[in-house]
Amino acid sequence: MKESKIMGIVTKQKEFFFSGKSRDLRFRLNSLKKLKDTIIKNEQAIVEALEKDLKKPRLESYTSEIGFIISEINYSMKNLNKWARRESVKSPLNLFPSRSYIIKEPYGVALIIGPWNYPFQLTMVPLIGAIAAGNCCVVKPSELSRESAGVIRKIIYEAFDMPYITVVEGGIEVSECLLEQNFDKIFFTGSPSVGKIVMEKAARKLIPITLELGGKSPCIVDKKIDIDIAAKRILWGKFFNAGQTCVAPDYLLVNNEIKEALYDSFKKWLSVFFTEHPENSPDFSRIINKSHFIRLKNYVKEGKIIIGGQLNESELYIAPTIIEVSDMNSPMMQEEIFGPILPVVSYSGLEEVKRIIRLNPNPLGFYIFSNDKKIAEQLILNIPFGGGCVNDTLSHLQNQHLPFGGIGNSGIGNYHGKYSFDAFSHRKSILEKGYAFDLSMKYPPYKNKHVYL
Ligand code: NAD
Repeated sequence: MKESKIMGIVTKQKEFFFSGKSRDLRFRLNSLKKLKDTIIKNEQAIVEALEKDLKKPRLESYTSEIGFIISEINYSMKNLNKWARRESVKSPLNLFPSRSYIIKEPYGVALIIGPWNYPFQLTMVPLIGAIAAGNCCVVKPSELSRESAGVIRKIIYEAFDMPYITVVEGGIEVSECLLEQNFDKIFFTGSPSVGKIVMEKAARKLIPITLELGGKSPCIVDKKIDIDIAAKRILWGKFFNAGQTCVAPDYLLVNNEIKEALYDSFKKWLSVFFTEHPENSPDFSRIINKSHFIRLKNYVKEGKIIIGGQLNESELYIAPTIIEVSDMNSPMMQEEIFGPILPVVSYSGLEEVKRIIRLNPNPLGFYIFSNDKKIAEQLILNIPFGGGCVNDTLSHLQNQHLPFGGIGNSGIGNYHGKYSFDAFSHRKSILEKGYAFDLSMKYPPYKNKHVYL
C-alpha cells in the first residue's frame, strides 16, 4: 500500500475520532457485538485459514483463537459500563470544597501490529480493548500468516467502515510506513528486536506503546511432583501450536533425581498425544515457513536427542523433540526457540536454577512444578518475569482477571479483560472546585505566611 493511502486512512480516522462517534458507549457496545457476530459468521473461514497457514488443529483454533476472542468480547460487553464510568476519588481537606474524579478517555487513533503464531487472537483481542475504550483503529496483521491476514481483512471490512476501523496488510515496508504516522497509541505484538524498533519510532513522537514481546520462558521441575501429570502439562504447553507460542516453556530445568523418570513419562504421553507417528497426527501443527524451519533444524544438532528429532522440510514438519543440553552458550540456549524443540538442562540446587535463568533475564512466562510451596514461592519472588503458573503451563493467560504482559525484554504494559480497556485508555484527572472558602493563604504576597510541614 502506498504511503499516501496510509496517510489518508489515518487522516480519515482522526476526523472520525473527533466526530465523537467512537466514544459513545452504545456505539462501542454495538461495535463489539458486530465484531462478535462477524467472527462467528466467518468461523469456518478462520479455521480453514489457520489450517493453511499452520496446519493448526481445529480444536486449538477454537480454544486459542475463536473461543478466546468471543469470550473476551462477552466479558468486555458485560463490564464496559462499569469500566468506562467516571471514577470518583477523595479530595484532601486543604482543597475543600472540591470533588475529584478520573475520566477514562480513548487515546484516539490506535495502531495494532500483530504476529503470525496466533494471528486472530493477537490482533482481535487488542482490537476489543481499542473498541471498548472508544478508539479508532488500524490493524496490521503479519504477512507470514497470509491466509489468516486475508480473513482478518474480510471480517473487519464486513463489520466496520474504514474511517472507524480498518486493516492495512503488508510486510516490513508497510509496517515501517505505518510507524511514521501520527497514531495516538501503538500496540505491538512480536519479537523483542522489532519491539525495539517500534519503541524507537514511537519515542520520536512520544506515542504511548504497549509491547507484547517474547523471550526464553523457563520451566522448572522440582523432584517433589506428580511426574505423570507434570509431564502431560509440560508437553501440552510446549507442543500446542508446535511450540510456536510466545509463552511456551522454552527450556526445562529438571532436578537431577527425577530426570529419567520424567523422560519415561514424556515418551509415554507423547505417543498418547500424537501416536508413534506425529507427522500423521491431525493434532500437531507445522512450522510457519521455510526460514523458521531452517532456524529450528539447526537447534536439533545442538544436543543429545532423547525423543523425536525427525524432520521433513517439504512438509515443514519437525517432530516433538526433547533434547538434553549441557552447553549454555549454544544458540538454542540463548535464542527464543519458538518451535517444537524442548531442551532439558538438569540441576541439583535452586541457586543453579536462578543462575541459569539469569542468563536470559526477564522471560515472558515462568513455570514451576513443585509440591513444595516454599520452593515455588522462593523462585516466583526472586525471578523477574511477565507471568506464569505453579504446576501448569500457559493457563495463566486464560484467566481474564489476570493482566497478561512481559517485563523488560519480554514487553512493556499488559492486557486481557479490563487490562485491555486500560491499555487503550488515558486516565484524565479532574478536580472540580467550588467558589466558597477561597483561602487567601496560597496567593502572593507570601510575606508573613508560614507553611508548617
Ligand atoms: P516479528 O517481530 O518478526 O513481527 C511482528 C510484526 O512486526 C509483523 O506484523 C511484522 O510485519 C512486523 N515487522 C517485522 N519486522 C519489522 C520491522 N523491521 N519494522 C516494523 N515492523 C516489522 O514477530 P513474529 O515473528 O511475527 O512473532 C514471533 C515473536 O513474537 C516471538 O518473539 C514471540 O515470542 C513474540 N510473540 C509475543 C506474544 C506476546 O503476547 N507477548 C505473542 C505472540 C508472539
